[in-house]
Amino acid sequence: MNEFNEVILLKYGEIVLKGLNKSYFEGLLMTDIKKRIKKYGEYEVKRAQSTVYIEPVDDMAKENFDLTYNECTKVFGIVSCCRAATVKKDMNDILENIVDYTYEKLRSVKTFKVEAKRSDKQFPFDSPAISKECGGLLLRRHKHLKVDVKNPDTVVMVEIRDYAAYIHCGSDEGAGGLPQGSAGKGLLLLSGGIDSPVAGYRMARRGIALDALHFESYPYTSVQAREKVIELAQIMTDYCGDINLNIISVTHIQEELRDKCREEYFTLLLRRFMMKIAERIGLYYNCTCIITGESVGQVASQTIPAITVTNDAVKTLPVIRPLIANDKEEIVKYARHIGTFETSILPYEDCCTVFTPKHPVTKPSLANILEEEQKLDVEALITEALSTKSYVKVTRG
Ligand code: ATP
Ligand code: MG
Repeated sequence: MNEFNEVILLKYGEIVLKGLNKSYFEGLLMTDIKKRIKKYGEYEVKRAQSTVYIEPVDDMAKENFDLTYNECTKVFGIVSCCRAATVKKDMNDILENIVDYTYEKLRSVKTFKVEAKRSDKQFPFDSPAISKECGGLLLRRHKHLKVDVKNPDTVVMVEIRDYAAYIHCGSDEGAGGLPQGSAGKGLLLLSGGIDSPVAGYRMARRGIALDALHFESYPYTSVQAREKVIELAQIMTDYCGDINLNIISVTHIQEELRDKCREEYFTLLLRRFMMKIAERIGLYYNCTCIITGESVGQVASQTIPAITVTNDAVKTLPVIRPLIANDKEEIVKYARHIGTFETSILPYEDCCTVFTPKHPVTKPSLANILEEEQKLDVEALITEALSTKSYVKVTRG
């Protein structure tokens, strides 16, 4: 705890561009923020001028200020976050607080500048005058400091806003995107790999709430593989919110494929089953899209002809592939950022890697695939698979 009246300021991202339905987005944003921070104590949360103000009210909230700030950097819809000292809209009060509040920061840098923003035009000093007064005082107090307006080590901000004046030393990047759940709900096909958690995160960041569907092939896949997927969903909730995770067994489908179909088509035939099942689950839970972690050319089943064959299995919901143009390295960077990477690389088998063909087709023709599919009672297999569904509600924290 410190002696300043410190607040967190969160600045909107694209919400500022919204027209008549801006309040819908703001409502979801405020709900997400309040839900996230209530475990850290009592806060006053209000908004004005495309900024959310979060002020600790009780001692617990003051003690947990750092944790709360960290939580706020994960809120979709926010582009920048900063912690600031609140002072009266009075030049003397600003000058009295600015030296102490920025003291530690300025001690550790060589150059700085003061930038002032005056959105309350009633304030008697204009922005250049505020910068000059504050900059002059800081220079007198720190003999080692120099002003560098072009490329300073740190920028001290003074903002004269609706409620008060705020002093801070720059912002951190926010999570970006649109408020959680503002764009409806999607069904994420979640495997135990690196890609699909990232695909889910990328869509959640655009405001899509997530349900998830995992296919297992027990006993060919293990109980640990299932636990790994639950763990991945758990990590994802930190950014994406609660996830209803459905688990379906495709063991019998895979055995039928093995016994009746040409080996080089196994993977694609299985992927078509996955899509058909996902479509039914998605429609049942009012999802408006299916999300996968596919990326062009990553494996044989992700060439454009292979994706065309997979896509043909879904008739009503769009299949969104947010990673389609990403390199693996870029995907790994995201996976590390959201914290799923270390879990994703645990070496448990996925249903896609049991009965893998030695030479999978990379340029399949839909006609050939459909001919293979006719060897199976597709409808009966889907019904049977749906009857194996189990369900885990994965909640944040
Ligand atoms: P990931 O790293 O996410 O496992 P991948 O590169 O291994 O992806 P594939 O195994 O071909 O690629 O799967 C492509 C996509 O299909 C996955 O990103 C995921 O969306 C979906 N998928 C694959 N296996 C499963 C599964 N067992 N359950 C649910 N969805 C799956
Ligand atoms: Mg995989």
